[in-house]
Amino acid sequence: MTRILESYAQGRWQPAGPGAQQLKSAVDGSVVALIDAKDVDRKAMLEYGRAKAGPALRAMTFHQRAESLKALAKYLADFKQEFYALSYQTGATRSDTWIDVDGGISTLFVYSSKGRRELPNDRILIEGPSEAISRGGSFVGQHVCVPLEGVAVQINAFNFPCWGMLEKLAPAILAGMPVLVKPASSTAYLAEHMVRRIVDSGILPEGAVQLLCGSVGDLLDHLTCQDVLGFTGSASTAIKLRTHPVVLGNSVRLNAETDSLNCSLLGPDAVPGTPEFDLFIAEVFREMTSKAGQKCTAIRRALVPEQCMGAVQRALAEKLDGLRIGLPSSKEVDMGPLASLGQREEVLQRVAELARESEIVYQRKSLELVQADAQAGAFMSPVLLRVDDPHSGHPVHYVEAFGPVCSLLPYKDMSNAVALARMGGGSLAGSMCSADDQAVRQFVLGTAAMHGRLVLLNRHCASESTGHGSPLPHLVHGGPGRAGGGEEQGGIRAVMHHMQRTALQGSPDTLGLVCDRYLPGGARRLEPIHPFRKYFEQLQVGDALLSAEREVSLDDIEAFAALSGDTFYAHMDQEAAAANPFFDGRVAHGYFLVSVAAGLFVDPAPGPVLANYGLDNLRFNKPVYPGDRIKVAFTCKQKVNRETAEYGEVHWDVQITNQDDENVASYEVLTLVEKEDWVQV
Ligand code: NAP
Repeated sequence: MTRILESYAQGRWQPAGPGAQQLKSAVDGSVVALIDAKDVDRKAMLEYGRAKAGPALRAMTFHQRAESLKALAKYLADFKQEFYALSYQTGATRSDTWIDVDGGISTLFVYSSKGRRELPNDRILIEGPSEAISRGGSFVGQHVCVPLEGVAVQINAFNFPCWGMLEKLAPAILAGMPVLVKPASSTAYLAEHMVRRIVDSGILPEGAVQLLCGSVGDLLDHLTCQDVLGFTGSASTAIKLRTHPVVLGNSVRLNAETDSLNCSLLGPDAVPGTPEFDLFIAEVFREMTSKAGQKCTAIRRALVPEQCMGAVQRALAEKLDGLRIGLPSSKEVDMGPLASLGQREEVLQRVAELARESEIVYQRKSLELVQADAQAGAFMSPVLLRVDDPHSGHPVHYVEAFGPVCSLLPYKDMSNAVALARMGGGSLAGSMCSADDQAVRQFVLGTAAMHGRLVLLNRHCASESTGHGSPLPHLVHGGPGRAGGGEEQGGIRAVMHHMQRTALQGSPDTLGLVCDRYLPGGARRLEPIHPFRKYFEQLQVGDALLSAEREVSLDDIEAFAALSGDTFYAHMDQEAAAANPFFDGRVAHGYFLVSVAAGLFVDPAPGPVLANYGLDNLRFNKPVYPGDRIKVAFTCKQKVNRETAEYGEVHWDVQITNQDDENVASYEVLTLVEKEDWVQV
C-alpha cells in the first residue's frame, strides 16, 4: 500500500499534499510512498524547536540526556522488524540493513555511554583547567561550553536513512539541542517511520525531534547564529549550502560530509599468497558490493603494485563471479539494487565517463538475478576498471560513481603510491593492507593530512577489524577537501560542535561558583568537622583541611626503598644524586610523598568515604630532601553525582608544600562518597 509521508512539525503530523512526488521501490519500481512538504511552515518549525524543546533539553543534565538516548535505543530495538521491512524496499540486503538499522541504534548506545563516562552530570561543561592569567592569582580564566540555543538542522543522504540520521541526532541531543531532520527524499519512508517511533516513545521532550519530509524549501533562510547545519550528500549540494547568504551572513555552523574517492593500498610486501593480499581482495570486494557500493567510504581507487595488477584483477573477478544479486530480503542474495532507477542511471553515466580513459575489466554481460526482475528494479552489475596510467588529472581521481564500481591503479613504489592516494583531493577513509610497518608509516605520514580516517590492516588485527568502510561513533567521521572538510562527527567532538565555548575571566571564587568547582587561588572553607565525615550531600565544593607538618627523614627514605624495592640512585646514593642536574643530594621518593600526604589528610575510621579510585594530574614540582617538613592542603574540588548509584564521585585538590610554602607536589584524589539519603528507584 502506498504510504503518504508526513512531516512532524510543531507537535503534529502533517501529510504530503496534492501533487506529491512518488517514491518507488528500488526492487520492483512499485510506488512505496508519496512525499511533499509544500505546506509545511519551515520557519515555524525552527521557532517551535527553539522555544519548546530547546529549554526542556537544556534543563536536563548531560547524564539525563544520555539516559534518554539509551532508553530510546532500547525502545527502537523493539521495532527492528518494521524498519527492516522498509529497508529492503530501499535496496538494502539483510547485512546492509543490519548496518543501517542495528548500526544506527548502537550509535545511540555508544553516545549514551560516552555521555555518562566523559561528560559531567551537569548542564555546563567545564573545559580544561583554569588558566593563570595574573601575577597574584586573583584574576583567572576558565573555558566553559554551553548548548547553542537554536535547532540542529540535519540534511541527510539517501544511503543510510537510519544510521545517517541517528549518528547526527545523538550528539545534538546529548549536547542539549533539538533537531530538525530532513531525510533524502528517495528513502525518506524509512526515516519517517523511525521518527514516528521516536515521537511515539515520548522519551525525548516534545519537539526535540522534528521531521521535514520533502524539499528544504526556505528553511535555510530562517537560520540564526544559534542553529547548526549538518549535511551529508554530494559536494555540489554542500557548496550551495556553504554559500547560502544566510549561512554566510549569520555565521551558521556548518558541517558537511560529502563525496570521497577513497583509496585502499595493497602494500609492496603483500604479494599473492600472503594474508594481506587476501585481506585486500576481501576489503575491495566488500566495499564494491555492500550497500551496492553506495557508501561514502567505499573504496573507489584500489592502489596495487604494478607487478600484482594481473593477480589482483583475477582474484577480484573470481570473487565477483560468485556474487549473488537480487531480492535484497533474500538470504541467498549478497547485493541488492541501487536506491533508485535514477541513481542507477547516474552511476552508469559516471562509469561511462571513467571508461573513456580506462578499461572495464569486469562487468557482467547479462544480469541473472535471484527472485528479482532486472527490468523493474535498479539492479546493475559490479564494474571493475583498470587505469594503466593514473596520472594527475585523470577522471579516476575526481569522478565518483556512487555504486558497485572500483578502479585498479598500478603504482611503482611507495612514494608513487602516496602521490596517487593524495590525488583524491581529500577523503573520508583510506586503508593499507601490509605487514611491513615501515611502509605503513610512510603511507600514514604521506597521506594522513588528506584523510579523516586510515585503516591499517594486517594478519594480526584482521579478525577483529571493523573494515575499511565502517565509520565508528567513537572515531572521527569526516575528511578534508572533497570529503567536505568536516570532522565534527564521531565521539565527544560531535557533541562540542553543538555547543558554544566561552572564555570566562574573573576571580577564582566567582568562577568557582559559576563552574561549581574549586579553582586554584579560591577561598577554602575550614570547618572543625573532617571532610571525610561528611556524606556526599553534605560536602560542599571548597570544604578543606590543612594538615599538620611532617618531617621527612633519611630513615623514611631508606625504609620506603626497602618496602617498595625502589632503590633508584637519586634516593640512595648521595654522590650520584648530587651529580644529577635536578638534585642537590638524596631525595625522597615521589610516591613516598603521596603516601605521606594520605597519612596527613585521611580520617581513618569507617565513614561515608567508600574508596579511593585513582589520582589525576600528579606532578612532582620540587625535590624533597631529608629534613624538609611537608604539609597538605586538601580541598573538595568537584562533586559528580551518579544519578543511579548510592554514592557520588568527589574530586579533591591536593597541594603538598614544604616548610618554605613552596609547592612540592600537586594532584587530584578521586574518591567515591556515600549518599545519606539515597533511595533506589
Ligand atoms: P545530494 O543530492 O547532495 O542530496 C543529499 C541531501 O541534500 C538530500 O537530503 C537532498 O534532499 C538534499 N538536497 C539536495 N539539494 C539540496 C539543496 N539545494 N539544498 C538543500 N538540500 C538539498 O546527494 P545524493 O546524490 O542524494 O547523495 C549521494 C552523495 O552523498 C554521494 O556523492 C556520496 O558520496 C555522498 N555521501 C556522503 C556521505 C558522507 O558521510 N560523507 C554519506 C553518504 C553519502 P532530496 O533528497 O530531497 O533532494
